[in-house]
Amino acid sequence: MLLESLILARESHVSPESSEAIVLRGVDFSETSRIVTFLSPMRGRLACMAQGVKRPKSQLAALLDTFNRVELVYYWKDGRSVQRLSEASLLDGYPAIKRDLEKAAFAAFPLEIASKVAHENEPSAELYAALARGLDSLGGWNGSVRTHVCWQALQLLSASGFEPSLGACVDCGSDVDRAPGFAYRGGVTCPQCAPDRRLSEEGFKALCALVASRERCPAAPGDEAFDVVRRYAAHQLMAPFQSVRVLDQMFSPAGNSGK
Ligand SMILES: [Zn+2]
Repeated sequence: MLLESLILARESHVSPESSEAIVLRGVDFSETSRIVTFLSPMRGRLACMAQGVKRPKSQLAALLDTFNRVELVYYWKDGRSVQRLSEASLLDGYPAIKRDLEKAAFAAFPLEIASKVAHENEPSAELYAALARGLDSLGGWNGSVRTHVCWQALQLLSASGFEPSLGACVDCGSDVDRAPGFAYRGGVTCPQCAPDRRLSEEGFKALCALVASRERCPAAPGDEAFDVVRRYAAHQLMAPFQSVRVLDQMFSPAGNSGK
């Protein structure tokens, strides 16, 4: 098998590479193939053609389910946007997320952020670590799911250069410490500068705690913070979020989040 791979690599001027990766999404390409997009620490957003994956007996299909953390072998060729997948093995399928409808639905939001902020062929170790840490933690989380995905979203935004300003007014730079305004163009605002909304004292403290806690999700009220972060992310990334549209259809708006 190894010899076969090496011969193939030499013949077609491609190099086999292996990497850990998380499945961001997949789209059908042909009767038998899918293009699967991963986040990988070394290559950033990585699209691979998974040939034969739609055949009934393909063992790859289950491995390439969204959210899965996998070990990949693929053939890398500079300059092409879709690489060829060779093998995959499962590292973690996050069953505790997938069997919980609310967690699975909300987890699609940080996953969509990761796919929007990641770039092709750009080392993304910090972003990858934040995504993996968030998925690891969500499975066993017993608190508000909104709080948890808000924390995940803020950690991904921070890891990719989109951390909101929470200490100084985004317009004039003056210190802000109590229940400020918030502007989606960058963060908190002082009383003299124009906000898009007001933050409650509780909401402001929750946002600060969620940004500051890098390793684990803190206990914090999530409804206001989630509402701020979903709008902030859409404004910063200049993109509507399909996952948030689905959440609005499935769950009642903030204020009645269940768990
Ligand atoms: Zn100001």
